[in-house]
Amino acid sequence: MSNKRNISARESELGLKREPILGSLTKEQRREMEELSREYMEFIGRAKTERMSTEMIVAILERSGFRPMDRVKRWRAGTKVYMVNRGKNVAACVLGKDDLTEGANLVAAHADAPRLDLKQNPLYEDADTKLALLKTHYYGGIKKYQWVNIPLALHGKVILANGKEVEIHIGESDKDPVFTICDLLPHLYRKKQADRKLSEGISGEELHVLLASMPYDDRKAKKKVKLWVLDHLNKEYGMVEEDFVSAEIEVVPAGPAREVGFDRSMIGAYGQDDRICAFTCIKAITEIGIPKRTAIALVIDKEEIGSDGPTSIKSRFLEEVFSFLLELKEPDYPDRKLRRALSATYAISSDVNGAVNPMYKDVHELQNAARLGLGICLTKYTGSGGKYSSNDASAEFMAVIRRTLNGAGIPWQTGELGKVDEGGGGTIAKFLAEHNMDVVDAGPALLSMHSPMEISSKADIWSTYGAYKAFYEMKG
Ligand code: MN
Ligand code: MN
Repeated sequence: MSNKRNISARESELGLKREPILGSLTKEQRREMEELSREYMEFIGRAKTERMSTEMIVAILERSGFRPMDRVKRWRAGTKVYMVNRGKNVAACVLGKDDLTEGANLVAAHADAPRLDLKQNPLYEDADTKLALLKTHYYGGIKKYQWVNIPLALHGKVILANGKEVEIHIGESDKDPVFTICDLLPHLYRKKQADRKLSEGISGEELHVLLASMPYDDRKAKKKVKLWVLDHLNKEYGMVEEDFVSAEIEVVPAGPAREVGFDRSMIGAYGQDDRICAFTCIKAITEIGIPKRTAIALVIDKEEIGSDGPTSIKSRFLEEVFSFLLELKEPDYPDRKLRRALSATYAISSDVNGAVNPMYKDVHELQNAARLGLGICLTKYTGSGGKYSSNDASAEFMAVIRRTLNGAGIPWQTGELGKVDEGGGGTIAKFLAEHNMDVVDAGPALLSMHSPMEISSKADIWSTYGAYKAFYEMKG
């Protein structure tokens, strides 16, 4: 990146730092970018659920010298600790030089992604076709037609009647079978499908996963293919049909992350919203020195369905983390110290924005829309219909972030989620703000967001990682 600061450059700085970062990276920065991207592809290709992400994040933290919080007994600046909530949330902290009541620097991302969940009673055999299928209920905002005719994997956990926990992971290895949802052939779709609106092209109750066609060898059985599946599940996992009730099994796109383009400058993978931020905020916190303010990376769940439930940002997990940290200095700290620490905290709601798609530019107002490859995107406000339901970051806090990124030489851009009155969406920013902390949304922009193959830019991953690192290490 050029450091030239002549007048014309300054004038064009905001709207028009519109050149791809890739064009101005040094050799060393390019090397860093490629190394980071390799690590990220390994992560995103394997972290297919919030539980799997949590496990991989804990492994990264353990390798980097972070210890479970309950093993640390007193406050010492530089100490690295982490806490896991219900296998689905992680908080990683590096204790700062300042007292926690002066506030922490928090980067919070989510590790849940749109997908298909199995219904509670999912398995059936279709009497006419003798095929066994699984019924699903989609999770989060998907365009349902995107989920048919692609290879799918199953990942999850089953608690058997005797309390034993069994994990299911099938569809990722070359040797595994995959699953799929069958769409109607074009030869016969005219009356049934052709005139449907795109949003109803495939309906929620048509998302049934093809499972088996093999009949079980038992002349008396009525549903032989379903029986084959039940027998298989029993042999393989010790499961009976009722065990689906105490299971969480997710249907997700199968296969690894791929480089995209002749120039390999982009990454295509499922679940990048928002595991791209989960990865970069965790990776960045493993590489900081002793920070002035305590640094916290938080990875949470249930963002895609409105942040409800005990593993969401609306639960009190973040307060529990803060309370644990305060106890390291003062076991009987007064409650006002917790309030003060939370309200003095600076937070980045670490989430993705939608990059301009060249085929659908008119949903954006181009002067304020995010582009792929221009660096981390600062999103001051989200919401819809007049910023409704949005955390709108203050001028003062935007100034802090801007100064930090410019000071560290991190290329960044601004973005908003679509034209005014076009649509919109929200993030966890407004829930963080309920603690009275300053919050801004910042993360990379993606193409094809919420699809089975979301596209990110390697340069944006590098910029996002650098921005979070600079934020954790902020001096002022
Ligand atoms: Mn998101
Ligand atoms: Mn999302």
